[in-house]
Amino acid sequence: MFLRRKPAPPPAAGDVDASTAPSARLDIRGVSRRYGRTLALDDVSLSLSPGEILAVLGDSGCGKSTLLRLVAGLDTPDAGEIRIDGRRVAGSGVAEPPETRGIGLMFQDYALFPHLTVLANVRFGLSHLPGAQARAVARERLAEVGLAGREASYPATLSGGEAQRIALARALAPRPRMLLLDEPFSNLDAGTRERVRADTLAVLRQDGISAILVTHDAAEAVEFADRIALMRKGRLIQCDTAETLYRSPVSPFAARALGDVVTVAGLASGGRLTTPLGTVALPTSAPEGSVQVCLRPEAIRIVPRGEGVPGRVLRRSFAGASTRIDIEVAGLDAPLRLAAPADDRVDERIELGLLEGGILVFPRSEPT
Ligand code: ADP
Repeated sequence: MFLRRKPAPPPAAGDVDASTAPSARLDIRGVSRRYGRTLALDDVSLSLSPGEILAVLGDSGCGKSTLLRLVAGLDTPDAGEIRIDGRRVAGSGVAEPPETRGIGLMFQDYALFPHLTVLANVRFGLSHLPGAQARAVARERLAEVGLAGREASYPATLSGGEAQRIALARALAPRPRMLLLDEPFSNLDAGTRERVRADTLAVLRQDGISAILVTHDAAEAVEFADRIALMRKGRLIQCDTAETLYRSPVSPFAARALGDVVTVAGLASGGRLTTPLGTVALPTSAPEGSVQVCLRPEAIRIVPRGEGVPGRVLRRSFAGASTRIDIEVAGLDAPLRLAAPADDRVDERIELGLLEGGILVFPRSEPT
């Protein structure tokens, strides 16, 4: 942990001026962006409250970086508008340049200048300040990211984690009111990634800076963000807290995005849900008729003989505190994968049943 500075005091009542508040509000309304035949963003709307941290989660090519570039002002939307603290910065003929948007950038490929020292790299965005003041701010930011004493080093002598901390110090030096992070941790090895990520989050929280993190890693999104905007093929599928996304996903795709599910066909009728893994009470607000059912692992359990649906254990594999078992069940397209306590003896022939939590029901017509 490398925090050095005390958090700024909260503003007094009636004292909140959008232009001087520590962090910005962002509103994206109906934004689209096309590149030739590719609709990279398709009518995306979302908002960020001051101080909120949002993760944009999705597979490669779904439009995450395009969204970030539009917010940063590095590109302009074909339709829709973007407002920062209510001020239109893009759309309807407006295209405010990046440098006046009050936004900091920390990109995976936003490399440090190799011919400049660490201090000069951090000072880079401070050319509006007199030399001595710029140096003082840059030193303060370096200390904040735990790299005081490395001012005279050159980027080539830094580890990957140190280089990303310098990139963070550089992005934060001009005191941006919002930080945009595009997969900034993905080139780091696992241990360094976790440390730099946790420390980056701590700096953002301490300074109350709004931030958007682009990532394809669901675990990273859950750990870093207050809310997750799930994207697919240029569209925003759902924007919610991790818990809401897990418990109330809007589609089978959203269900799979955050945690394992087994998808089976089911029949919902008369308040009961019938699946190849048994029959349970139909969750409230679930559709009736032919349905798709996504089962979280916690919905499936091994039950005593004679009480459930038969299954055959195909494979057991070591998974630390638990044992992973692959089970063949009649009526399922693929083997079912479950975790059983490592010390449980699991026979080859077992029976399975359903519990009422962790069962997600979607209309048959919902795209998977
Ligand atoms: P992600 O960040 O989720 O991987 P991107 O926003 O980079 O996705 O890209 C979304 C889609 O737009 C992809 O199909 C990509 O090939 C296309 N795209 C992005 N930028 C450009 C560009 N400058 N020119 C042409 N196509 C682009």
